[in-house]
Amino acid sequence: MEDRDQATVRVSFTDVAGVRELADLLHDRTTVVLSGAGISTESGIPDYRGVDRVGPPPTPVTYQQFVRDEHTRRRYWARSTIGWSAMQGRSPNLGHVAVADLERAGFVTGVITQNVDGLHVAAGSRVVVELHGSLARAVCLRCGSMEERVDLQRRLDALNPGFAERRFTMLPDGDAAIPDSWVDEFTVAPCTVCGGMLKTDVVFFGENVPKERVLAANEMVETADVILVLGSTLEARSGLRLVLQAVDASKPVAIVNRGATRADEVATVRVEARLGEVLPALVELLTSGAGA
Ligand SMILES: [Zn+2]
Repeated sequence: MEDRDQATVRVSFTDVAGVRELADLLHDRTTVVLSGAGISTESGIPDYRGVDRVGPPPTPVTYQQFVRDEHTRRRYWARSTIGWSAMQGRSPNLGHVAVADLERAGFVTGVITQNVDGLHVAAGSRVVVELHGSLARAVCLRCGSMEERVDLQRRLDALNPGFAERRFTMLPDGDAAIPDSWVDEFTVAPCTVCGGMLKTDVVFFGENVPKERVLAANEMVETADVILVLGSTLEARSGLRLVLQAVDASKPVAIVNRGATRADEVATVRVEARLGEVLPALVELLTSGAGA
């Protein structure tokens, strides 16, 4: 029997009890997904707090440092020029694809992501709120105009020939560990419209999530029956707040993450496993109707 063969395959690589429980919760409800860095680590993108990290997490630049200090900006853009070219080579993994499949099949109403890597959109998810922005754009802090990062990267390459191809260690959020001596050689690109200061269109530490994005995320939580947290410890307040919104509205919270999260005690279902294994199994259970 074909079904049994597929089930046997699943047994070999997933925590079936957890996945079945998850499918039972989601099969007759609408779900909003809240995703964090853990869904992108399987695409080879490092995170700040994940279980696989060796050594202390890198210290990110704050918005205030970036705006006040010319050297900080130069260092940011030097590292980002190298880090971004590596990010571009990353593709969505089975977890991202499964989330897009669940949206297409009508189980997931949308994705709120804390990630800035654009991989949900690349995987085919249609309703996506990028809570912390995207590495794919830069914004001018003086006139507000936006520039596509591919275009900006071309200008940075022209100003700093060969720079983006240097060897480095990849860090979270499109950052790269490079020697300080390289920073002094680097030339920053100004806004093409007004000559002002450009910043990647991501929410820096010390900066607030734009209000319209918060409202869009709130509405997605409000209109869904369940919130499903994927690959986030919920350390960032912007994510935890959405889970607490769901709890306040007596909506079930489901969590798939490796390692503890700040919402474990309020979770209805908690699965400790790799997303690239759990989510394809969940898609199979839900779309075959076996979760009913
Ligand atoms: Zn400008």
